[in-house]
Amino acid sequence: MPLIVWRESADPNVYEAARTSRLFNGVIPPRYPVAIAFAKSEQDIVDAINTAIQKDHRVSVRAGGHSYAAWSLRSDALLLDLGQYVEMELDEESGIVRASPGVTGEQLNAYLSAKARAFSVGHCPDVALGGFLLGGGMGWNSNNWGWACESIVAIDLVTASGELIRADVCNNADLFWAARGGGPAFPGVVTRFHLQTRQAPKVTRSSVYIYPAEHYTTAFNWILKVLQTTVFQNICVKAELTCQIASSVDQLVEITAVGSYKEGVQDACLTIILLAFGDDEHAVGDILQKADQSRPAGLLSRSFSEETSIHRELESKYKAYPIGQRYKVDNVFLNNDTDVAELLRPAFTTLPTRQSLALWSSMRPRSTRSLTDMALSVQSDHYFALYAIWENEADEVENGAWVAGVMNQVQRQAAGAYLGEHDFKARAARLWGSQQYERLVAIKRKWDPSNRICGCLGLEELD
Ligand SMILES: Cc1cc2nc3c(=O)[nH]c(=O)nc-3n(C[C@H](O)[C@H](O)[C@H](O)COP(=O)(O)OP(=O)(O)OC[C@H]3O[C@@H](n4cnc5c(N)ncnc54)[C@H](O)[C@@H]3O)c2cc1C
Repeated sequence: MPLIVWRESADPNVYEAARTSRLFNGVIPPRYPVAIAFAKSEQDIVDAINTAIQKDHRVSVRAGGHSYAAWSLRSDALLLDLGQYVEMELDEESGIVRASPGVTGEQLNAYLSAKARAFSVGHCPDVALGGFLLGGGMGWNSNNWGWACESIVAIDLVTASGELIRADVCNNADLFWAARGGGPAFPGVVTRFHLQTRQAPKVTRSSVYIYPAEHYTTAFNWILKVLQTTVFQNICVKAELTCQIASSVDQLVEITAVGSYKEGVQDACLTIILLAFGDDEHAVGDILQKADQSRPAGLLSRSFSEETSIHRELESKYKAYPIGQRYKVDNVFLNNDTDVAELLRPAFTTLPTRQSLALWSSMRPRSTRSLTDMALSVQSDHYFALYAIWENEADEVENGAWVAGVMNQVQRQAAGAYLGEHDFKARAARLWGSQQYERLVAIKRKWDPSNRICGCLGLEELD
């Protein structure tokens, strides 16, 4: 039986520490669970759910606590905290790793890279597998390797009635479908993911270009054009093949643009990052070289083809996205024919605080392949996310207003939004296709008729 901290009997300080433990966002909503259960094993999860059933409480789940809207915090529910249940086991022959949902991207990456294997873990090191994979999983190099949830081979879960079962393509296939993109609408608690890993790339290199605000348009349009060049189109074709066979690594590049303030520079700058993965040192160098040769003038700084690793990239995110700061986050997938640089100019150039960030990421070539047979059903070539970050409680309204103002303009060109960085209470967005939405509602009703498992906070039909 797991340790359970009950609101009515615990020391208030102990209860508050349990309620807020490992929450990423420093803006903590005033929602108060009836109890917090700290699971250390699969059996603890079964026991906690059966306790909730006996006492007729709803169940909410916290894996990594990274949901910016703090979905795990639900009033009067039993909050199941999975942070102390950390298990990983790789089957070297099949390359399938079994991992508990509380495992973070950083932990899984460290475990796998020691065995020369890789998985597309989330860009922030402390994002855990639970929320990340259920939401779809836009991990490192996922524009090439595919959505992380596409590598789920099976899941083990406890149903809303307290039964431990497996779901895969052959067994409980509707639950397996919902686990890949259904997010909090998933009507059970996952106890274990079975994930197909891939051979780790032998070479990882990055080029980073920082431009001042006055070169924003030229620099952004340069990188969008690089994506259209023959060499990158060829990469896309190769990447599509490697995605499909999921066995070998080819020359693959993840391209992102970040708006942020830099020390000693007054206005927000544009940083363009090309992260290249491959097995052949020369081929990787060649791709970065070709992009580098076409870069526009006006750079503040440049680093070219530096050796790196997913581990190093993850570490750098601790500084960019500090845990416990106050965050307001939103995102969209932009229509493919959008004038991206022009549309995103206000987001990238008027950031409200020196810590805040705007991010654009190319989803090609994954976005050129259709999404089939899973709940995840919205994507486009361009992903855009905003992170207003601030320290003082008093600045919440101002930062919230800035995000809302930018999103008001940007969402006119939206194909939809990514569930993982969405807040159902903040605004309505297209998170699934209409058929997938209907199917999710039906699966939730079938597997959780008494609505035991807390779902999408702010989306009544799926909550
Ligand atoms: C700064 C920032 C950076 C991010 N970067 C990325 C990124 O690079 N890629 C990306 O894809 N996403 C990213 N995200 C979004 C992130 O993937 C989601 O917030 C995700 O839900 C976090 O997972 P978690 O387990 O840590 O969160 P939690 O808050 O613990 O979980 C969120 C919800 O997921 C559900 N859940 C979790 N575990 C289980 C389980 N075992 N069984 C059933 N339901 C469960 C529950 O509804 C839970 O409330 C980012 C978010 C932020 C704020």
